[in-house]
Amino acid sequence: MLLSPEKQQYYMGIAFAVRKRANCVGRKVGALLVVENRIISTGYNGTPEGLTNCNDGGCHRCANRAAYQSSVGYDVCICVHAEQNALLSAARFGIAVSGAATFTTLKPCFGCAKELFQANVRTLYYLDEWVYPRQELQEQYADLLRRFDVINVATVDPEAEWARGGASTRPSVDDLGHQQL
Ligand SMILES: [Zn+2]
Ligand SMILES: [Zn+2]
Repeated sequence: MLLSPEKQQYYMGIAFAVRKRANCVGRKVGALLVVENRIISTGYNGTPEGLTNCNDGGCHRCANRAAYQSSVGYDVCICVHAEQNALLSAARFGIAVSGAATFTTLKPCFGCAKELFQANVRTLYYLDEWVYPRQELQEQYADLLRRFDVINVATVDPEAEWARGGASTRPSVDDLGHQQL
């Protein structure tokens, strides 16, 4: 059963707070895993524990964005996505995530969506849209997302500009007109 709009806004507000620690120079993202109306794990995006933060130059891909198209090269990106970090924190402390819902401030990328799915997370509450830039893969991404309950949460992002990476530092849309992650 889906959460009420008030509960959805409450959890997304917590995801905004979690996101404040994001250290990626790209989009800033916060995510939660919720089971039976309880938060069991949180995550934000950035480099792994103990490594130089992305915004201090710790990620080659993020520091050289011109060399990598949006959504391309995640395998060599040292930054861990918010949804991945939420799953991995749960793994670290032995918390079951099967049947959880996720709240994320940005619609999951292909990689996070498949990982959430494989962890048996089947409900997806998100705020910002993310369109898969590579057209040939859009259908497979759509097929993956059809296996979730996907809910766009109606709420206002108080730090939308910062979370998009800041218009002054890098554009929020690439030359294909899609949002960059
Ligand atoms: Zn980064
Ligand atoms: Zn992701």
